[in-house]
Amino acid sequence: MMANNQPKRHIPERTCVACRAKRPKRELVRIVRTPEGIIAVDENGKLNGRGAYLCRQRACWERALAHHSLDRALKYTLTKEGLDTLHSYLVNLP
Ligand SMILES: [Zn+2]
Repeated sequence: MMANNQPKRHIPERTCVACRAKRPKRELVRIVRTPEGIIAVDENGKLNGRGAYLCRQRACWERALAHHSLDRALKYTLTKEGLDTLHSYLVNLP
């Protein structure tokens, strides 16, 4: 069998639900609605559930919250707890 020396060219891209920019997946933050209906910030991309992506910048998070972009992307109406989770994350963003 031949060794595979080809560089990996395929970088998975995702779209930020706020600014619609396409970026490599690891430059975005995944937000997940778990099967239990909990909103979580998925740092490692491992959580099950319906996900949406946002840039690692506060502006996109605020925009997403103001325009209910996450609600739409996750097909879910954010609860107080969900909003708290997102707010406590976004205050640490640049
Ligand atoms: Zn963005």
